[in-house]
Amino acid sequence: MSRFLKENYIKLEAYTPGEQPKDGEYVKLNTNESPFPPAPEVVNLLNCSDIERLRLYCDPTSSKLKESLAQLYSVKPQNIFLSNGSDDILNFAMMAFSGKGAVFPDITYGFYPVFAELHGVPFEEIPLDEDFSVNPNDYKNKNKLIFIANPNAPTGKVLPLCDIEEILSTNPDSVVVVDEAYVDFGGETSLPLIDKYDNLLVVRTYSKSRSMAGARLGYAFADESLIEDLEKIKYSTNPYNINSLTAALGAKTAECEDYYREKCRVIAEVREYTAEKLTEMGFEVLPSKANFIFAKSDKVSGEELYLKLKERKILVRHFTKERIKDFNRITIGTKEQMDILIESIREIIKEK
Ligand SMILES: *Cc1c(COP(=O)(O)O)cnc(C)c1O
Repeated sequence: MSRFLKENYIKLEAYTPGEQPKDGEYVKLNTNESPFPPAPEVVNLLNCSDIERLRLYCDPTSSKLKESLAQLYSVKPQNIFLSNGSDDILNFAMMAFSGKGAVFPDITYGFYPVFAELHGVPFEEIPLDEDFSVNPNDYKNKNKLIFIANPNAPTGKVLPLCDIEEILSTNPDSVVVVDEAYVDFGGETSLPLIDKYDNLLVVRTYSKSRSMAGARLGYAFADESLIEDLEKIKYSTNPYNINSLTAALGAKTAECEDYYREKCRVIAEVREYTAEKLTEMGFEVLPSKANFIFAKSDKVSGEELYLKLKERKILVRHFTKERIKDFNRITIGTKEQMDILIESIREIIKEK
């Protein structure tokens, strides 16, 4: 540890990203990326883009990208915030709106507590119900910054819109962040509620359903004044936080909606297929509306299954947190990849 690090960061436990193996010979089902490439039009744009223009600063307002997203989602550009991945937006939200502290479930996206620690924000982790669902009653009248991932990670479970609305209406003086990283795989978006609730921030990403995790692009929807607050933080940090190539690819992606919808449909279909096969093998599989499933076997521990799959060059995600250590989070890949996974699990169980 550096002897120069400020004292308030010494105890900070950084977020641990899923493994990104360098040898590339894995069936990679550990970080919820899409198994499909970006749309052909997007790939083509990258191939013909004017690299010479990289010498210029990018447009700090990313106005073309905002226009494309505004059109696709029927909102005004003033209702959109853009940043370098949605993690960046979650970080800004924690910086901007946590004056009275923060609240989120005990089992959810692991970055929320890291951002809270980073900014010295006191936070409360509310246990999910026995069946791993969010109980909206636990979030009423909290009067603190609330984070809800919907669908939740790593469970994949959804919270109905009426429950989100209940949380919004009972916390009128604090911001409610609805993290919709996985909404395109079968969840229900809170986006229409931004007209009714000025305390709602809906956060999205290009990393999962848009096959662009490496390009780093996140976007968010909210009432204009909330967006202005986030812009203030962005212009006080890094006004050029979206590079020109990513902005161009992001705008083109918004014009290829049919392609991405079809890929999400395929992924949802393969998800149901995989869940059925694992259930037949005695797994408990939580009902997921995301591009992953969260599953636990009665025959092999979460850690052992993770390690044995890794030996067979299949990567899934295992968390050591007590309440979920028996589970593995498995990203939905192509049907071919899932068949390799299912066969390997069958063999691992048979060897026991
Ligand atoms: C993957 C993920 C993100 C981060 O996405 P990036 O845009 O790649 O930073 C945010 N929230 C949840 C719940 C996620 O699973």
